[in-house]
Amino acid sequence: MKNEILYLRKNGWEKYDSKGINEIFDYGKDYIEFLKNSKTERLTLQYLKKLAEKKGYSEDGKEKFYLINKGKNIAFVNLGNVSPLKGIKLIGSHSDAPRIDIKQNPLYEKEGIAHFKTHYYGGIKKYHYLARPLSLYGVVIRKDGKRIDISVGDKEGDPVFTINDLLPHLSKTQYERNLKEAFEGEKLNIIVGSIPLKREKENPVKKMILKILNEKYGIVEEDFISSELEIVPQGSVFEVGFDRSFVGGYGHDDRICSFTSTTALFNAKNRYTVCSVLFDKEEVGSTGATGARSLFLEDLVIEILKRKEIKPTYENIREVLKNSDFISADVSAGIDPDFQEVHEKQNGAKIGYGVVITKFTGSGGKSGANDANAEYLFKIKEIFNKNDVTWQTAELGKVDAGGGGTIAGFLAFYNANVIDCGPALLGMHSPFELVSKVDLFETFKAYRSFYESKE
Ligand code: MN
Ligand code: MN
Repeated sequence: MKNEILYLRKNGWEKYDSKGINEIFDYGKDYIEFLKNSKTERLTLQYLKKLAEKKGYSEDGKEKFYLINKGKNIAFVNLGNVSPLKGIKLIGSHSDAPRIDIKQNPLYEKEGIAHFKTHYYGGIKKYHYLARPLSLYGVVIRKDGKRIDISVGDKEGDPVFTINDLLPHLSKTQYERNLKEAFEGEKLNIIVGSIPLKREKENPVKKMILKILNEKYGIVEEDFISSELEIVPQGSVFEVGFDRSFVGGYGHDDRICSFTSTTALFNAKNRYTVCSVLFDKEEVGSTGATGARSLFLEDLVIEILKRKEIKPTYENIREVLKNSDFISADVSAGIDPDFQEVHEKQNGAKIGYGVVITKFTGSGGKSGANDANAEYLFKIKEIFNKNDVTWQTAELGKVDAGGGGTIAGFLAFYNANVIDCGPALLGMHSPFELVSKVDLFETFKAYRSFYESKE
């Protein structure tokens, strides 16, 4: 039988010679540097904004500009020659990642130890956050209205924080519980100190912490109420394996797509108007003014029309959106050889086999899925084929094994073409997610070819 009539997936590494492999590793290096410095959605935005400015983007740029929404969304735009009324090419990713948030009234002292109370954000396995160093990032708006940026844990010489785990010797009852009940959300309290303030009878350790915070940042206890403080895994980003083929670190989901879609934009020779948009709040349902369910995307279209000197009437905004092609750029679950039972391997993503096109997400009978149409799948795979992109198609896991969603459905609300497309990870949502460097690179190439597409 001729090979043309069979659909065969290819390992991404095999088509590259040593020059190509060097290119993959160089791109990997840039990505590692980015991920190290992007532990929150705000920091991701700042890092990519700086990169964009080096490439000639500015807030009031004529051809290349960016639009920021409340410090958390950013859209990078490169206007093309084709009128935006013919549609734009947009890639949306999310820059938030699962983590543990500090509560609004967090500080307490018990048995001589001061803690912060927390509320976890997104889908974490709670035990991943126990007995390991943690870092603290975020902002506090002080009584005087000044915004204080906080970053403790990842700089040389910084202290770290931790959540204590119960010693195995006394875990008999805990062992008998199921995994869901064994780790309680209200017990994810962060240890922040233990030295008492002298001559204080009540809560001397808590008072000592407040004194330190006041001296260092000028904040008082009430200021926590106007804060956004995030606890994330402490530590760097690493090459993994003797062959250094993986990148391991926190927050690939979905900063890897923010990075690849934005750097692809910088490198694309586009005819159409192209945009890379970073959304927040995906991990909690894309809600909020900075999530993909807000009208920020319409604000962006209005801005594009204005810069092209086209009246942003309702009809014109609709004309742009309904003619547009979007990619919902998010990660997929790679087949884990130790948990093959949750995957249907013929329709599962293989690590190292390129960027993943996902027709639908959702769970239990495609519930909540965007489910892109066949015509759009054809268009996307043809673009990738013509540009030598290694790609594969996959579902998140076996039917009824679980599921998940992305921003695809919220983008499709605008009546644009939308499809999910991004690299596969191992250990998604863990403090140390893995991605193959070749999948990272193929994702970059896929997004660049999408921006450069002529139809
Ligand atoms: Mn996620
Ligand atoms: Mn994601």
